Formats: sequence, structure tokens, C-alpha cells
Amino acid sequence: MNCDIIIRNGTVIDGTGKKRFVTDIAIKDGKIIETGNLEGVSAQNIIDAKNKIVCPGFIDIHSHVDFSVAGPNHADKLKPLIMQGVTTVIGGNCGYSSCLIPEHNSNMTLTYLENLSGESLKKTVTWNTPAQFFNKLEDQGLLLNLGTLAGHGSLRIAASGLVTRLLNPEEQKLMEGYLEKAMEMGCLGLSTGLQYFPGLQSDTAELTKLGAIIKRYGGIFTSHMRSYSHTIDRSIDEVSEVGRRCGIPVQISHLYWQPYSKGFGWITRNAVKLGSYAYNKLKIPIPVEKGLEGIIALIDKVSRNGVDIAFDLVPTSQGFTELFAFLPPYVSEGSKADALTRLAYKDFRKRVLYDIFNVEPDWPHSSGATWSFNYLKMTGWEGLRVMAVMNPDNTWMEGLTFVEIGKMLSKKPFDALCDLLIEEKGQVMVFHTPLKPDDPFAFRSMWSGFMHPNSVPATDTILRPIGRPSHVFYDCFPRFISFFAKEKKMMSLEEAVRKITALPAQIMRLKDRGMLKKGAYADKTIFDFDRLGTKADFYQPCVFPDGIEHVIINGQSVLHSGEFKKDVLAGAVIRRSN
Ligand SMILES: [Zn+2]
Repeated sequence: MNCDIIIRNGTVIDGTGKKRFVTDIAIKDGKIIETGNLEGVSAQNIIDAKNKIVCPGFIDIHSHVDFSVAGPNHADKLKPLIMQGVTTVIGGNCGYSSCLIPEHNSNMTLTYLENLSGESLKKTVTWNTPAQFFNKLEDQGLLLNLGTLAGHGSLRIAASGLVTRLLNPEEQKLMEGYLEKAMEMGCLGLSTGLQYFPGLQSDTAELTKLGAIIKRYGGIFTSHMRSYSHTIDRSIDEVSEVGRRCGIPVQISHLYWQPYSKGFGWITRNAVKLGSYAYNKLKIPIPVEKGLEGIIALIDKVSRNGVDIAFDLVPTSQGFTELFAFLPPYVSEGSKADALTRLAYKDFRKRVLYDIFNVEPDWPHSSGATWSFNYLKMTGWEGLRVMAVMNPDNTWMEGLTFVEIGKMLSKKPFDALCDLLIEEKGQVMVFHTPLKPDDPFAFRSMWSGFMHPNSVPATDTILRPIGRPSHVFYDCFPRFISFFAKEKKMMSLEEAVRKITALPAQIMRLKDRGMLKKGAYADKTIFDFDRLGTKADFYQPCVFPDGIEHVIINGQSVLHSGEFKKDVLAGAVIRRSN
């Protein structure tokens, strides 16, 4: 027998959770054609995997790389994903999806997407529909496999523009029509970003109507929920209700938990700081992960009541998103230019600042100054740090809080924030964390989430041309494996691999991926478990991990003995399949 690649003597972990075993693997025409003792089989490319772990390629189900795949040099931009063993990504998360740019509303949609992408998409975007987007990717070639969700924010803007109200029946119908078409064309489901404008203007009824369409196409409903704080249980109730009423699977996006108690924000804020001091300095092993256990118990209850529910988490203690998400929704009404014009006025700033620190986060949000996740009120000014700006004159701000920036510029923190938004034309990305970056206490609060059998780690990758990226864009999967399966020994390596291969494939209904078996697509990651690890952190994020040696996508070597082959565009567009 002759084949394209033989992997010899590898220690195989097949993704199902089954115990590892040693075997050879033969790959031909993009698929695994045989396993077992393949001594007589020849191949052009022979990989000696003795004492190495051979497993399915890692699947990242929460990503925003759909912004970056159609642009120039996409292989260079996406290299950090290959270097950490990723072979498949699912884009279009949190309501933002770049596959859908309806002609009549393209400018508004592009401005909305550029909030996250951080670069102008006008030159790149040559499509209006998901089908055209997929064709474009197939024509140009793809570094890795990509599937995408249809974003609720994109759909809503297409139907109504940016409005701070519920949709009228006509607009709702229009939006449903867009979603139907997107599903027909191969999107995997619907993503929502209910913390963001305009997603936060929707109500549960709106989401349920969209869920009914998802049901017809066998898709998934994912949600960046309205709140991850004291009203998180209501957020979970809401997405569960959509799942239950429509009979569709629900994926909660990047689960974490921000402690807050209404009226006593300063107490919770200081308790968190005190906890961090006791844990990090006095070495008192405070089991802060217990805080998430109540939330997980709620998810388990939903699951016992028949809703197919899972969640993802990002293995870092600092989240990241666009700065507008931290201002009251009324600031964003209309166009971005409108918002920035308003923010220039002193009186308007006064009102916004008052609302941020005096109006309690509330549920449900309908109008006015309330919204479900008023993060700055929960953490104070120290909770935000600048991640990325466009203007080279402002890059010194990256990594700093607005208090630190304000001091340098002799401005109050909120004026520094507003001035920066205006200078950057609204495109400012920030890290958010209640404590200092990379705080082990904050990370520990997520442990029980990672240990849950239905959770998967994800990168939440947003690749911007400039700024300080999150370390997880470089080390998410190696960090997850080495922390939980090696350093803490809290889970077996087989379980860690299951959570980044077969489980995400099952959640996203990806056919013949995520498992190492005869007939499956040959997406493989080969690593040295002893060497696997990361040196990346908040301050030095752009460091490739150790131990990832080979990455094979659809039967072609993209990483060979640590060497990245950027011209091998072996990725495929993954369309929804019935
Ligand atoms: Zn999100």
C-alpha cells in the first residue's frame, strides 16, 4: 500500500476519552485510511512519533477569525493558531459575523464589525452573503478549516439599522428571512451578543423566533449572554428558555463570573482584592472556584430538564472586548459618528459618567440608562486596560488603565477614555479584569468550569493588525492541557484531549472531525507532552508554545517538526450538513 503520510509508533489519544494506545496511522487523500501495525506500507512523508502524543487536531469553537481569513496574508496572521495545534475554527461568534454584509446596509454593518476587527474591512469585503463569502475563501485558499455562525447583531442591523428598541413585526420578518438564507447557505447556527449593542435591545421573544428557524435547519444557538454577574442566573434562564421552547442545543459563550451585589458594589470589589491578596501573598488556598459551582449547578439543572446545553471558557483571567460595550447603550444609538460626536460634549459626558457609577445594572434592560452588565460599576476604573488602538501616537497606552493614562495626560479617567474613543474613531479594544493581569486567584475562579464534562476551552481570537494581543491567541490549548493535565493533574490527558477535539466537534455537529479513526478527515496534532507548555503571559503574549511538533490538516502537513508551512493552504470551509 502507498499513502501520503505515515505516522509511526505514535501514542494515540483518539478524542473519545478512551485510554491511549500505540499504533501507526496511514493518511491518503485527506483522510485516515488505516491504523494498526503498518510496517509494509510506504509513504512520501514518514513521521516518527515514538513517545509523542498523536491526537485529532484541536477545534476552537469560539473565534472571531472570520474577520481575518479573507484578507491579505491571512496565513501569516493565523500562524499562532497552527503553532498551538488548532486545525479547525468556528467564527461568527457573539453576534458579529463577517459572512453577512447585505448591500443596502453594508456601511453600517462594516462599521459594526470593525469595532472588533480593528481594521477597515471595506477593501477586503467583496461579498454580501455567506455563500459568496465561502466561495471567496475556497478560491483564495484557507490555512485551516473554518465554519461560521450567523451573527444576530449583523442580522439585526441588516433588518433595522442600529436602533435602541425592539423590532417591529416587519423588521423581525426581514431578520428571520436573512437567517433562513444564511442557514441554507451553510452557517452552523446563530450566535448572539446580548451584552452588546444592538443585541442587547432584543428580548427573549425575538430570540425564540430566530431559534425556531435554527431548529428547522438543525443548527446551534450560541450566546454571549446579557450578564455574567449577579444576574447571570437570569441570563442562563433566558438562553435555556430559547433552547427549551425551540428544541435546539445551546452553547453559552466564554463563561466566567464577576461577583457583584447590588447596592454594595464597593464591598464585593474590595472582597475580591482581599481574596487575591490572601491567595497570592499569604498563600491561603481559598477555593474561589466554588463561586462558579452554583452557576454550573444551574446549567446542570437545565440539562437534566432536557435542554442540550454546553459552554466554553477562555483560559485567561483577563477578558477582552471593545470599549463601547462598557458604556450605556444609548451612547451607541444611530451611527458610530453620532456616538463620537455626542461623546465630545461635556454635558453628555457628565450624564454618561453619572449613569455608569450610579445606575444599578438591571434586568431586563429595556431603555434609558440601565443595562444588564455595567462592568465599570462592578470593578471601578482599575477593571479596564487598553488592549489595542490604531493611532501610533497612542500605543503607549496599551496595557495601562484609564487612571494611569489620565495621570500621564492630566485628565480624569473618563475624559481620557472619551478622548481616546474620539481619536481612535471608536475602535478601542480593552482587557477587562477585576484584578491585576494574570492573577492566579481570578483564574482559579474558573477552575470548576474547565473541569465540567460539557465545557470546552476556546481562544475567542480577535486578530488585529496592531496592539497587544491576548496570550490565549498563542497558547490557549497548550496552556489548558499543561495546566489541568500536567501541573495540577486535575484531569487525565485523555479527558483534556476530548474537550478540545471530539466534544467541540459534537457540539458544532462537525462530521468526521474531532476523532481519530479510519475514514475521518486527517486533521492531526502531534505533541511532546513532557515539553508541552507556554511562556506567554499578559506582558509577553506573542510567544509560541513549546511541544507542538506537527500539525496536519486534511492530510497535508502545515507544521512539520516545528516548521510552519504558510503556503500549504489545506483548510476547508465547513458548511452545515444534515
Ligand atoms: Zn463574546
